[in-house]
Amino acid sequence: MSDPVTLHDIYLARSRIAGQAARTPLILSQSLSARFDAEIYLKLETLQPSGAFKLRGALNKIASLAPEQLERGVTTASTGNHGRAVAWASKRLGARAIICVSELVPANKIAAIEALGAEARVIGRSQDDAFVEARRLVAEEGMALIEPFDDPLIAAGQGTIGLELMEDVPELDRVLIGLSGGGLLGGIGRAVKGINPKVHVTGVSMLEGAAMIESLAAGKPVEVEEEASLADSLGGGIGLDNRCTFELVREVMDDHHQVSEAAIARAMLHFFEHEKMLVEGAAAVGLAAIEEHGIDVRGEKVALIISGNGVDAETLMRAKTLIDYPAR
Ligand SMILES: *Cc1c(COP(=O)(O)O)cnc(C)c1O
Repeated sequence: MSDPVTLHDIYLARSRIAGQAARTPLILSQSLSARFDAEIYLKLETLQPSGAFKLRGALNKIASLAPEQLERGVTTASTGNHGRAVAWASKRLGARAIICVSELVPANKIAAIEALGAEARVIGRSQDDAFVEARRLVAEEGMALIEPFDDPLIAAGQGTIGLELMEDVPELDRVLIGLSGGGLLGGIGRAVKGINPKVHVTGVSMLEGAAMIESLAAGKPVEVEEEASLADSLGGGIGLDNRCTFELVREVMDDHHQVSEAAIARAMLHFFEHEKMLVEGAAAVGLAAIEEHGIDVRGEKVALIISGNGVDAETLMRAKTLIDYPAR
């Protein structure tokens, strides 16, 4: 199979998204560095204008579309970080966007999408119904479907994070990356290993419903049961007809860990209390893995991808309760 995403593709992505997505800061965490006797760096994708890294892939994909396609518009069926990224990127690039959501999606999430300048189309009673509408818009109205991860242009966009890491810390030893559909890990892994094959790439998922990890174990994409998690942005399948990220992750990931809800909660609270940062569960799993699995990082230069800030007060309180009353 030919290489779906090359280092060159990632450099092209960078030139497309430059000036649109933020080149985010990489900061040294004093407290984590002292605690683990290492240099622990935090890559702050929470500072993207949409609040998460997914803007990079969405911008790269939408900026690659033909002008006629921009006019016909783009669509997707996500209410989370991807939907927000598509809304923000299409407004920025002058494309019409329809984000399909089900009737069960809370009004504040719909308002957030509309505030970013996209149309939210409320349809059906499930995420699947919303997907059917997005596919109909593609088939009947010629809109372009913007995939959340399984598209070489999306993974290449996320890979621009890896270029920035290697520029900021050329002697990087290891990067820990939240893993769901694998656009983020696949892109970053391809970038850092393309520059230095010795960089160790660790994927991290929650315990239940880790679709990519179960698929890798099965040797092919499999369906998983979705479970509620503090790392809700890591939920969902990888697609039984996955065409890009399954192979890519299999190639560039050195190892992976799964972390408990309690470990995710402790990591979220660490960021809140010691770094004064609001990070969502999916963005805290790298720290959770070092802590819970005792990964030996002594003396290493390590980057944690702080992937998004989509967390509300209720979720943070749930995390705190989980720590204070572990039996519940
Ligand atoms: C989407 C997402 C991830 C995982 O990215 P994939 O490309 O699906 O593996 C991790 N963290 C956050 C905050 C996300 O929104």
